[in-house]
Amino acid sequence: MLEINNLTVEIGGRRILKGVDLDVEAGYTNVLFGPNGAGKSALLMTLMGFSGYNVVEGEIIFKGEDITNMSVYERAQMGMGIMTQRPPNMSGVKLYDLLNVISKDMKDTEALAEAIDMVRFYERDVNVGFSGGEIKRSELLQLSAQNPDFILLDEPESGVDLVSIEQLGKTINSLLQKDCKCPGDRCCHGKSALVITHTGQVLDYIEADRGYILCNGTVMCSGNPREMLTEIKEQGYEECIKCKLMKI
Ligand code: ADP
Ligand code: MG
Ligand code: MG
Repeated sequence: MLEINNLTVEIGGRRILKGVDLDVEAGYTNVLFGPNGAGKSALLMTLMGFSGYNVVEGEIIFKGEDITNMSVYERAQMGMGIMTQRPPNMSGVKLYDLLNVISKDMKDTEALAEAIDMVRFYERDVNVGFSGGEIKRSELLQLSAQNPDFILLDEPESGVDLVSIEQLGKTINSLLQKDCKCPGDRCCHGKSALVITHTGQVLDYIEADRGYILCNGTVMCSGNPREMLTEIKEQGYEECIKCKLMKI
């Protein structure tokens, strides 16, 4: 689904990502860990094609196509969607109007809005004056509306209180499993995702397949995400970057 080869990225002339190699197979949910400032958000922004993230080396292959130089719009058209860490306020744009423009199926979108208590935000300007949790729900609703098949989530649980994390986690999980026709609760060819988590809280609700640790703009290790999280919690990132984790 996604193949990142030797990706090297500069922001304002500063090298932020250095030779990143990372894959996400179709139907897999992979997780990106790493300390503050490692370049996790920069990687997701680069994958989505935001301006200012200059790829100076390497390539991004998505669904077999080289998308390294494609626009955000083209990537979105191909099925890529993102929930950013700090989404912008959109003054003058009402949430309902935005949803109406981006929804693949407005009935579906309205049902989700109902379920996550976002209907009362329809007439409000997107994100303006929203609390941390409300912003995340609004972003998730917009993401679901587009129904992408490759999903980038940047610390979805940040700024969300402990009670709301459960609802958010469950909503994310149903988004990842949406349109899945597989029997049981594990999808073999549904949506694919790359999820940044600092706290690992979201992993209580989604089934993650593989974890990566990014440090100083470089992928240091990959492995079982649950084992990695335990190791990170016990040892911190210092030990992890020595690659004591089993590589699989
Ligand atoms: P993470 O998400 O892992 O905490 P980021 O990807 O946000 O880290 O940031 C990685 C590094 O890139 C940081 O040192 C940050 O200051 C720098 N950076 C991010 N965006 C910009 C920008 N627009 N201009 C200059 N430096 C930036
Ligand atoms: Mg899946
Ligand atoms: Mg970040």
